[in-house]
Amino acid sequence: MTTRRDFLIGAGAGLVTLGLGRVQASSHPVSREVAEDGGQYRLQGPFVVSTWSHGVPANAAAWEILDSAGSALDAVETGVRVPEGDPDIISVGYGGRPDRDGHVTLDACIMDHEGNAGSVAFLEGIKHPISVARLVMEKTPHVMLVGAGAQRFAVDNGFEVENLLTPAAEKEWRCWLEKASYDPWPDPADPNAAHDTIGMLAVDTAGNMCGACTTSGLPFKMHGRVGDSPIIGAAMFVDNEVGGACATGLGEEVMKTLGSFLIVELMRQGLSPAEACHEAIARIVRRNADWKEVQVGYLAADKQGRCAAFSILPGFQFAVTDREGTRLLDARSWAHPEAAAGG
Ligand code: ASP
Repeated sequence: MTTRRDFLIGAGAGLVTLGLGRVQASSHPVSREVAEDGGQYRLQGPFVVSTWSHGVPANAAAWEILDSAGSALDAVETGVRVPEGDPDIISVGYGGRPDRDGHVTLDACIMDHEGNAGSVAFLEGIKHPISVARLVMEKTPHVMLVGAGAQRFAVDNGFEVENLLTPAAEKEWRCWLEKASYDPWPDPADPNAAHDTIGMLAVDTAGNMCGACTTSGLPFKMHGRVGDSPIIGAAMFVDNEVGGACATGLGEEVMKTLGSFLIVELMRQGLSPAEACHEAIARIVRRNADWKEVQVGYLAADKQGRCAAFSILPGFQFAVTDREGTRLLDARSWAHPEAAAGG
């Protein structure tokens, strides 16, 4: 086995290869790795990072743009459109699990390197909310459109209204209806089952960072519930002078602590991405006696290419892609004994 130092200089190491889980096909070599020494990684040149294993194909789409000197904004939009359009990914876009009334309602946000932002929330019938969020940023004087107004704006700009409830998601919902217990807490047997938002950060060859986040939110949420994903500074924030952060997990906790903004501000004050993610998780843990039942994961990267992720419970994964290829990595967690060391 090689050392983490080897990995940092590009040899793929300090790492144990464990297998690929739910990873889909990618044009890049993928390895699932466990980092030593605080779980912080060094990426080279342009890069893209994103949450969960569906980040692997999403990163591949984003990387095609970055690798041909495209913009980070195009990269993050194109990247997260992959899970949005995949009916087998039950937590984002088309195929997402519905709310308790059977409606698939989507939240998304995007930020560019100049601090411009756009978002949509409680949007129904539009397969690619991230592209609507980008149009809100680029074509309106506003940052956020919600519900029917967001849908009308999308239709006015050429988007098609489609039924996003797939037979598989409808079946799951009908099964849930048998008990109809509204419980946003994760299943203790699989704390990550309810959480699969994609957040993505990319740096292009010009050195600019942009970010995106998109989700169908908590499964079987109350009708009208909006999570952290469209809230700028909660589930995603980018400051091109410093870096960016994105979140997944129980959105209510992320919103109450404005986690992504917090992480970026902590990095501005000199904390590493690993230390900043650790502190943002600590803020949630400290205010929740029942933190063992809550999953939140943060992923952060700074402009120097340092990248880290940290979650409350184990199981959170993130995908990183640069010229060395794509790696699917296990985040450290608060609940894991090694986690307390932070970065
Ligand atoms: N953060 C998302 C939300 O609360 C869900 C998730 O990532 O699991 O809507």
